[in-house]
Amino acid sequence: MLGGDDQAAHLALNLARLGCDVIMCTNGPVQASDPARAALAARQIRICEDPVGKVEGEPGRYVRLHLAPGWTLERRALFVHPVPRQRSGLAEKLGCAVLEDGAVQVNELGQTTVPGVYAAGDMCRTPAMPYPAAQVIMAAAQGARAAVVIDQELLFTDAYSASEQAGEPAAATPDAPQRQAGRPRPGQPGPSRPRC
Ligand SMILES: Cc1cc2nc3c(=O)[nH]c(=O)nc-3n(C[C@H](O)[C@H](O)[C@H](O)COP(=O)(O)OP(=O)(O)OC[C@H]3O[C@@H](n4cnc5c(N)ncnc54)[C@H](O)[C@@H]3O)c2cc1C
Repeated sequence: MLGGDDQAAHLALNLARLGCDVIMCTNGPVQASDPARAALAARQIRICEDPVGKVEGEPGRYVRLHLAPGWTLERRALFVHPVPRQRSGLAEKLGCAVLEDGAVQVNELGQTTVPGVYAAGDMCRTPAMPYPAAQVIMAAAQGARAAVVIDQELLFTDAYSASEQAGEPAAATPDAPQRQAGRPRPGQPGPSRPRC
């Protein structure tokens, strides 16, 4: 594992959980928090703070780290933990709230904080999730769920604006508050499915 912060420690712990023999090469003084260091020590994950001068190897065979002051460490694989970031600034340009890790904030329905803007997949998470799920099946499910909500929102917008124009009372059913508000908002339940 190359890296010395809490995220690198977290990945090292994940790898050790799979039974790997893990060494954390921090390329200088370790920056991980005391709890993270304690967790690493409990898992017998060794920490090497020597500066890393060069990395070489053959894919699938070995990786060799050249460390100061003049020794090498050879391992089967080297992991790094790049910091994820949004590739597109579109959501932020639209005014969507962004969480501290850069993920776009959504609710369980995929609604962002901007009406009519939805998000799904790796680019977003609910505040309750510690980080985006980052799995294909989750991204697909979130996209499908957002599509259902968008479809229902369009239906309600079209059907009920038509009925309001025709002079029918808007508060006739339990769904009326959401329709009156125009759309469900984060933290509110979404539209119910039409009763057939
Ligand atoms: C190395 C690696 C291994 C993984 N292994 C697994 C695994 O084994 N199983 C698993 O379930 N998940 C795995 N994942 C996670 C999985 O790939 C993601 O969770 C999933 O692809 C997320 O889907 P998404 O649609 O949210 O984002 P993406 O698949 O990243 O799709 C986003 C798309 O938007 C495009 N895009 C970005 N910006 C713009 C723009 N401005 N304009 C137009 N297009 C744009 C990108 O080019 C990309 O095609 C892995 C991820 C990585 C990186």
